[in-house]
Amino acid sequence: MPFKVPLSKPDITKQEVDAVQGVLKTLSLSLGPRHTEFENMVAKFAGVKHAIAVNSGTSALHLIVRALGITAGDEVITTPFSFIASSNCILYEGAAPVFADIEAETFNIDVAGIEKKITKKTKAILAVDVFSHPAHWAALDKIAKKHKLFLIEDSAEALGSTYRGKPCGSFGDAAVFAFYPNKQITTGEGGMVLTNSAKIAAFCRSAANQGRRTSNGKWLEHVQLGYNYRLDEMSSALGIAQMRRVREIIQKRRQVAAMYQKALEGIEGLRIPFTSPESTLSWFVYVVILPPHLAGTKRDGIIKKMAGKGIQCSNYFQPIHLQPFYRRQFGYAKGDYPVAEDISRRTLALPFFSSLSQREIATVVKALKECLPQ
Ligand SMILES: *Cc1c(COP(=O)(O)O)cnc(C)c1O
Repeated sequence: MPFKVPLSKPDITKQEVDAVQGVLKTLSLSLGPRHTEFENMVAKFAGVKHAIAVNSGTSALHLIVRALGITAGDEVITTPFSFIASSNCILYEGAAPVFADIEAETFNIDVAGIEKKITKKTKAILAVDVFSHPAHWAALDKIAKKHKLFLIEDSAEALGSTYRGKPCGSFGDAAVFAFYPNKQITTGEGGMVLTNSAKIAAFCRSAANQGRRTSNGKWLEHVQLGYNYRLDEMSSALGIAQMRRVREIIQKRRQVAAMYQKALEGIEGLRIPFTSPESTLSWFVYVVILPPHLAGTKRDGIIKKMAGKGIQCSNYFQPIHLQPFYRRQFGYAKGDYPVAEDISRRTLALPFFSSLSQREIATVVKALKECLPQ
């Protein structure tokens, strides 16, 4: 049965529908003008020099790892509290993710725990703006510079957020956005590499297109190992239409978040999302933290009860180190990253999308009150 209130919903209007249909009529379905236009719009929005549109956020992360020459024997310090791709992209190149635990407030990598993880093998720090909350970029930048490490921003969840007045997607040596349908804007599948480095940009552009030269190359000449990570024209057109509305979309998400903050105030023991005067959030998801006595299976029971009332909730994220594959491959066990584990057992992601109405929020909050054990 479909949910009365789903967890997530893309914001698609007639403008998006017309944009995609328009491409089909041109018959220029790949490597056309829309790809470049979409890149230019996103580069401008994030305030960076170069943007390379690709077919997923995961592809964008992989390209950056390769562009920085991260390879077998290298280590990259990253967060265990994220979507799996921010760690898998390190494994693709045979390097090792080294986790540092998170802060209990922002759920981002705890800067205080990073330096003790640095070894001779450390090549980079890969931080995630989790749930659209910017990581501590000033402090991360300082550590990276001090130890001569690359810094990568996984901003897949933070298009439209700002940190100290600067847009997310502009931090570190390179950053990614992602455009899966639950993100702030969508292209169906899609992602973007963002960087101020002409060298990283040229590498990624070539590698995403089968290792071709970025200009004046022959179609069947391949100068490096490449992939087909290209974003097609229908997706790019959808991205352009979404970017034309991006300020409106983010404004709506902020309004929905504000309605939730207000409606949830005063529910005993419930922690609403943390906001900081240093940052503005574009709100990827709306995740509340349950009190310790409702962690784990009790939390899962609440999600089930909410589903029974037609309201879809989720448990973002299971810590990466406790995923079956990571346990098996690297021998991680419970207790390795206690803050990430504690938070992950207490998260409850409520339905969140730009068109969520005041009435629907009232329905969700009423149901939640009924589902919380007294
Ligand atoms: C969504 C997401 C990605 C990957 O994006 P895809 O487009 O699904 O490949 C990477 N990192 C984080 C933190 C994400 O949330």
